[in-house]
Amino acid sequence: MPEGDSLHRAASRLQVLVGEQVEVETPHPRAAVKGLAAQLDGRRLEAVDAVGKNLLLRFEGGLVLRSHLRMSGRWRVEPRGAARVGKPWLVLRGPEHEAVLWSGAVLELVGDRAGPRLGPDILGEPPDYATMLRRLRGAPQERAVGDALLDQRLVAGIGNLWKAETLWEARISPWRQLSELADDELRASLEAAHRLMRAAVEGTRPLRHVYRRPGRACPRCGGIIRSAPQGPHARTAYWCPQCQVGGNPPAS
Ligand SMILES: [Zn+2]
Repeated sequence: MPEGDSLHRAASRLQVLVGEQVEVETPHPRAAVKGLAAQLDGRRLEAVDAVGKNLLLRFEGGLVLRSHLRMSGRWRVEPRGAARVGKPWLVLRGPEHEAVLWSGAVLELVGDRAGPRLGPDILGEPPDYATMLRRLRGAPQERAVGDALLDQRLVAGIGNLWKAETLWEARISPWRQLSELADDELRASLEAAHRLMRAAVEGTRPLRHVYRRPGRACPRCGGIIRSAPQGPHARTAYWCPQCQVGGNPPAS
């Protein structure tokens, strides 16, 4: 069983990634179903601490990933792109290093104890749409919907890919303010997020219509897909200005 000191050693090895924006992958199927990659990919890793028998990885936006190693789990830090055999639970990839978790055992997102609690889980069965709507309506209504959907205190679980694909599916511009959207429209986009993410969890390979496709043609209307940073963490929004109209997109 990993002892406290090996956890502290793992925490100190992981410090090379602190401050970096990380690419996140969950190659192991048992880790993939948790939807962690979608929530964490592209976020800055702010801190790594060993607390008791847990390693707590704190990401921007108040998300904390708890890793408990149990009997066989181990963290390795390797140069970016190092060759490996097998499917690790988690890979956090920075510009120069990647941290790799083997045999995850316990791997879960927990709310930041110092910060606000997470909103209802979009992958809930069934999802608590009423509370999500209440929280979205409790947020400043001048916030753009594309920014609000990534706020884990309002709705937990929607990452940057699913934000883009969900709003495209619902034909809603990420730049429209919450105040400009009817409850029906917000609810339809939450339902789309649940449907798309559920299908991905169950193994359907997600079709990307706009995510990371700037400059290409919208598969629905042929408009040219745009991208621009959005929200306090400047995460990239992708949308088709021809069939997702309205709001205040930045000038192209
Ligand atoms: Zn379009």
